[in-house]
Amino acid sequence: MPVIVDKIADALHLQSHKSTFDSNVTVIFVLGGPGAGKGTQCARLVEDFAFCHLSAGDLLRAEQHREGSEYGQLIQTCIKEGTIVPMEVTVKLLEKAMTATLEEHKSGDGWADGRGRFLIDGFPRKMDQAEMFEHDVGKATAVLFFTTTQEVMLERLLERGKTSGREDDNVESIKKRFNTYKDQTMPVIKHYEKLGKVIEIDSSVSIEEVHQKTKSAVANLLSGSTA
Ligand code: UDP
Ligand code: MG
Repeated sequence: MPVIVDKIADALHLQSHKSTFDSNVTVIFVLGGPGAGKGTQCARLVEDFAFCHLSAGDLLRAEQHREGSEYGQLIQTCIKEGTIVPMEVTVKLLEKAMTATLEEHKSGDGWADGRGRFLIDGFPRKMDQAEMFEHDVGKATAVLFFTTTQEVMLERLLERGKTSGREDDNVESIKKRFNTYKDQTMPVIKHYEKLGKVIEIDSSVSIEEVHQKTKSAVANLLSGSTA
């Protein structure tokens, strides 16, 4: 196809764009407000199903402290203010981490023959990130959505703040994070709800109860997918 036609088709999304990972790779986004229990439940799912668990927040914190990073200051400010780091930074970090994991050529459940399964925790937090990730990196199979009340989340975050050393586990930052969640992240969840991809789990109850519900939902999901 002549280049110009190619470009127009691409702009109009008429062509199927080649993303980095194909359907051999299962991607589950894990969302929910700050303190909803995403990280805790992801750790359990790693044990159950041999997922690779990538927390966007953890990757950003690692990048913030990486010597020579040009984004250290920017990331620190965004995290403290509860705002969202420009998507290019986060999407690249995720893509790099996924590529590195696939290059390990793991074997066993879900990982043989170039397949892989990822839990992407705390991402996408904003619609533009979701679009960029799905276009450039790969498609999401499903979204696990942990829900509980703001009171419960606040209490958990303040408790965690006693030992986490996180710069955003304090009342001021938490309030800002709640606002960002409501304004930017809820539309992402609504978007995936329309696509029928959201699995909503009440995370107000004990870790064990939430885990059992999550585990059976994920087992169902994986039994119906290719990876
Ligand atoms: N963050 C971001 N983009 C992302 C994920 C996280 O900018 O895609 C930033 C944002 O400032 C957020 C902070 O990292 O408030 C902490 O995110 P994390 O997922 O660690 O918080 P959690 O939801 O687990 O409490
Ligand atoms: Mg987390």
